[in-house]
Amino acid sequence: MDHGEAVLSAGLKTKLTILELHQRIGHIASDAMRKLVEDKRVVGVELEDDGEEMGTCELCEFVKTMRKRVRKEREELLRGAT
Ligand SMILES: [Zn+2]
Repeated sequence: MDHGEAVLSAGLKTKLTILELHQRIGHIASDAMRKLVEDKRVVGVELEDDGEEMGTCELCEFVKTMRKRVRKEREELLRGAT
């Protein structure tokens, strides 16, 4: 039996790792995601939860870096203005 077809059948859930789910539902925190799945707020998804940390999301890391840079530039601007 072809496994690929089975996945498309009704009632079966997509198995996602915590990182994949994070990227799919809008880059929210891992604790919040676990809660969403526990509360059945995310349908059609089964969390492949091995109890490990989410791992590194490249987009989130990028955003974090950008925020840090913006904050630093703003501080430097403010320092320069006074
Ligand atoms: Zn992310």
